[in-house]
Amino acid sequence: MSNPVEDLARRIIAAQGPISLAALMRLANTALPDSYYQSQQPFGGDGDFVTAPEISQMFGELLAIAAANHWLKMGGPQPIDVAELGPGRGLLMADALRIWQRAAPDFYEKLSVAMIEASPALAKLQAERLTSHSNRVTWQNDLPDRPAPLFLLANEFFDALPIQQFLRTEDGWCERLINWDEARGFHDALGPVIGAQLDQIGDVWEQSPETLDWAVRIGERLAIHGGMALIIDYASRPGETSLRGIRRHQRAAPLEGLGTTDLSAGVDFAALARAAESVGAKAYGPIGQGAYLLELGIEPRHAQLVAGANPAQKRELDTALHRLTDPADMGESFQVLALTGPDDPPPPGFV
Ligand code: SAH
Repeated sequence: MSNPVEDLARRIIAAQGPISLAALMRLANTALPDSYYQSQQPFGGDGDFVTAPEISQMFGELLAIAAANHWLKMGGPQPIDVAELGPGRGLLMADALRIWQRAAPDFYEKLSVAMIEASPALAKLQAERLTSHSNRVTWQNDLPDRPAPLFLLANEFFDALPIQQFLRTEDGWCERLINWDEARGFHDALGPVIGAQLDQIGDVWEQSPETLDWAVRIGERLAIHGGMALIIDYASRPGETSLRGIRRHQRAAPLEGLGTTDLSAGVDFAALARAAESVGAKAYGPIGQGAYLLELGIEPRHAQLVAGANPAQKRELDTALHRLTDPADMGESFQVLALTGPDDPPPPGFV
């Protein structure tokens, strides 16, 4: 059994030899109509995984309030660019726009939203969800380019970007490549040694060129016009592999079922922050998602929603609060990094 993604990966490997893990991830996740994010239904109970905005409206609402508060503390500069990287089904932006419209109308009136989404199928879902705001939302491939502060949201985006892995072998560091043969299917191979180091044999070193590329572009923009980027994701650990496959809410072998399994990697927040700081932005955190949401006031927001809820909705809100904040659930494994302009006030939630 194979599929168009695997067929193309095999033809590429046959033509040029083993390929970088990054090249394989790009094929598996986004590059083709049959790639994961273009062909599958990743989100929700009947999909492969559940993300924070899918768990509760409270997540997007709190990030939106944080953005509007940061803007107020900046003195309310206009116009305003809002951007979201990898918006999935569009829930986060829908929750944010609703709250801005209701609770921060000055912010809402002056903003334009850029949705940056690789999958045409998901972009279509996002557009359907945001019809009531359609006059201020566009879909594009890059950050908006205006002299305006930028408010950027990226939840579980960077973990979908391709990584390269380097492995410390007895001979030195080698890039982890992906090969294919009839007997073994897709499997690991090693590139040439790229320099002896003093680390432990078996150590893995990862880097995501696309992540650093985004970090520089977001950082440059913030350095000039200010604003705030909130990046929420799970982190990689130095020395360890963070590559994982997820299918139907379970861990799955990353190299099996390319295009039908979500491939993701932990985010190297230190590298991301360094790249943004190197072009003049300021970085805060990362801190645990649980601590961050508590600092932003998820408990009072929860109490407010519970007050108007029926028993079933109350149970759902309780579960959501727990899942988003409990250290044993998403509270610690997900981390929040804020990037701001160099002259901006500290971002809400990071005091
Ligand atoms: N933020 C959403 C979805 C996270 S899943 C949520 O929290 O629910 C990752 C998202 O990033 C998907 O929408 C996927 O299609 C998109 N994506 C992955 N790689 C991308 C790329 N290189 N450019 C733009 N979008 C990408």
